[in-house]
Amino acid sequence: MAKRDYYEILGVGRDASEADVKKAYRRLAMKHHPDRNPGNPESEAHFKEAKEAYEALSDKDKRAAYDRFGHAGVQGGPGGGFGGGADAFSDIFGDVFGDIFGGGRRGGRSQVFRGADLRYDLELTLEQAVAGDSITLDIPAQVECTRCTGKGAEPGSQPITCKSCNGVGHVRVAQGFFSIQQTCPSCGGAGATIDKPCRECAGRGRVRKNKTLSVKVPAGVDNGDRIRLAREGEAGRNGGPSGDLYVDITVQAHPIFTRDGQNLSCEVPVSFATAALGGTVDVPTLEGNVVLKVPPETQSGSLFRLRGKGVRSVRESGVGDLFCRVQVETPVNLTAEQKETLRAFDAAIQNEGERHSPRARSWFDGVKEFFERMGA
Ligand SMILES: [Zn+2]
Ligand SMILES: [Zn+2]
Repeated sequence: MAKRDYYEILGVGRDASEADVKKAYRRLAMKHHPDRNPGNPESEAHFKEAKEAYEALSDKDKRAAYDRFGHAGVQGGPGGGFGGGADAFSDIFGDVFGDIFGGGRRGGRSQVFRGADLRYDLELTLEQAVAGDSITLDIPAQVECTRCTGKGAEPGSQPITCKSCNGVGHVRVAQGFFSIQQTCPSCGGAGATIDKPCRECAGRGRVRKNKTLSVKVPAGVDNGDRIRLAREGEAGRNGGPSGDLYVDITVQAHPIFTRDGQNLSCEVPVSFATAALGGTVDVPTLEGNVVLKVPPETQSGSLFRLRGKGVRSVRESGVGDLFCRVQVETPVNLTAEQKETLRAFDAAIQNEGERHSPRARSWFDGVKEFFERMGA
């Protein structure tokens, strides 16, 4: 297939200015960028085509060659004729795409590096997770050196502009008809060399230091939730943006409550007499005690729901419920007199047969039936 004309691809005239070429490319690249059109080969082809056209027309020498010789003038040679594709891209997109596509590209005049993302495990009590809290974190991180303000040079001295690349961070190496752009080997792309390295950071511009951060934990967070603090990760290098800090949340086990999403559950011990006669029990919630009404003849294991006494989730609307499971408590440490009373009571209801103990009755029925089936 014949290659399309570069001016046609960018939709500009042959007399288009450098700025027009840049503008046209920026528009096309935004539209067809692979990050915005995942799995779309047509967009990818458009993107590559536009990039190639821009690389040719944005360079004065290459554009002149293209104008005279057509595609033949800008092809051939290792690496397709001109290296530094990434630079051509970042020269105009460093600022535009930095945030959209994750940053970390080579931008501007020399290479910049985005700082690393950090992760922090934050353990909360259930109360903190439910009500939200403001928490101070002490995080070990690479921060900008205050002594040299990140420049890496001892105060009073200055980084010296790299002589090999004149501070640009890359050099051009002649290769036949054209020249190829390379990261400057003298300064590693930084554009400057340091004569007297900073005492504090040994010229790195960053130091390992604990930094204190305040995190607002929203109400209703749960195990596995993650809070992102943009730009609070490690400092970037050479003016690059900082990474992000991810705070991963775990919630400690609670002595009374178990949480399941928006709902809470707990066990409520109830005396034998209250369970039999009915009554009220004070039940703790995360917002103070509430009164649970225990109806007469409540069996151990019965579940009662207190609506709206659960948790307000950080994601869903509404509030969950509190489920109370009644545990009838067997009395302990009885006096001789109390035991006697209990025996008398037991004898009284035994004499009246099974009408007081429906569960025992069905259980004994089950046992009897089982032995009959076994032929005993
Ligand atoms: Zn320093
Ligand atoms: Zn250099």
